[in-house]
Amino acid sequence: MRFHVPRRADGVDILADMVDRLLEKAHVSRDQVFGIGVAIPGPFCVSGPTGIGPGWVDFPLEEKLGEKTGLPVIVENDANAAAIAERLHGAGKDLENFVYVFIGMGLGAGLFVNGQIYRGIRGAAGEIGHIIVDPGGRLCECGNHGCLERYVSLRAAYEAIGEQEDCSNGLELLERKLDEKDPDMMAWLKDAADKLRLGVLALESTLDPEAIFVGGILPNKITKALLRELLPLFPSITTHGGMHEPHIQPGVSAPSAPAHGAASVPIFNEFYPEPRMPRRT
Ligand SMILES: [Zn+2]
Repeated sequence: MRFHVPRRADGVDILADMVDRLLEKAHVSRDQVFGIGVAIPGPFCVSGPTGIGPGWVDFPLEEKLGEKTGLPVIVENDANAAAIAERLHGAGKDLENFVYVFIGMGLGAGLFVNGQIYRGIRGAAGEIGHIIVDPGGRLCECGNHGCLERYVSLRAAYEAIGEQEDCSNGLELLERKLDEKDPDMMAWLKDAADKLRLGVLALESTLDPEAIFVGGILPNKITKALLRELLPLFPSITTHGGMHEPHIQPGVSAPSAPAHGAASVPIFNEFYPEPRMPRRT
């Protein structure tokens, strides 16, 4: 279930109330629940969420929601959660190494490496939205210019068609513009594909994945149109003599990938706990 939580003070109560209502509606008792998964936008650092909005930075959401509901809570960034959903239920079922490119208001990626999510040293791995693809280009929230997510994101799509980011029925509007072959929408698709091609090359060159899935909140129809524009990809060092396998495809869990992902996270963590070597002290 996706919804907007205005402030963190109210947010925990709203979430806890929603858990109660869901359990009641599904006739599920608390002792049958593995846990609560919460998917939020990245960046997501060891100290907690930083990308969800200023009011949530460093807020101990897992702890507070856990106290309120009496259930274990796992907070995961939306791209990782979507990748986990794809691994458990989607087209990544048999894959140990793949990337899930998550197109939401920003852009991120869930990186599956050897059967586990790769998080990086500060938990911010996969923030591909901040790869610079147009030096000196559009200003990004991170302070740099020309970041990938300034071109490949819902925010960029809304800007291209001259709409406010928080317009109601925004996704339906984008789909309609695509159906109508609106010139601004088509220009955005082409520009987004040109920029995303650079991001895909960076991912392929860095990770040599078995597959790259593209999804997130972007409606499937638009994702497919974007992928049509994206091909052919740049040949990467991981391909041989131009024999490029177009192993880039829409994620099957989109556009409800964050919700699917959130629900999948406690199950994944239960059955596929991350193997860790103890650190030498
Ligand atoms: Zn940036």
